[in-house]
Amino acid sequence: MVNFSPEGIDPQDFDALYEDIYMEACRFGPVRSMVICENRNDHLKGNVYLYYEREQDAEDAKNNFNTRWFDERPLYCDLTHVADFREAVCRKHDLGTCERGGDCNFMHVRRPSTKIRIDLEKSQAKHWQFETKRSKS
Ligand SMILES: [Zn+2]
Repeated sequence: MVNFSPEGIDPQDFDALYEDIYMEACRFGPVRSMVICENRNDHLKGNVYLYYEREQDAEDAKNNFNTRWFDERPLYCDLTHVADFREAVCRKHDLGTCERGGDCNFMHVRRPSTKIRIDLEKSQAKHWQFETKRSKS
């Protein structure tokens, strides 16, 4: 939904961006996981996927994000029925061996630093008073 090129962003800026989106997303309800794609192809480039605990929260987030702008471009947001991101993620990319590169049709996930991820999960857990399931990736 956010159309930008994560490839060209240095790690510090990426962490800041990740944190911004995450904090914004958490306002609508507990977020189980969030991924940002760094594919180059149009249908995945800069896509951000949010997985909410509750369907209603996802609906609220969608309606809100659709009224927002990012980097001088309108956000486009929709609901998806991918129940488990792990099925849509390119495993080879994680290993650095994907021969399709940025044109791959599976999600090439760009991850923030571990510190940011843990900080965000902790602050969210505190906020919602529930235990987040730590993703195994
Ligand atoms: Zn791939």
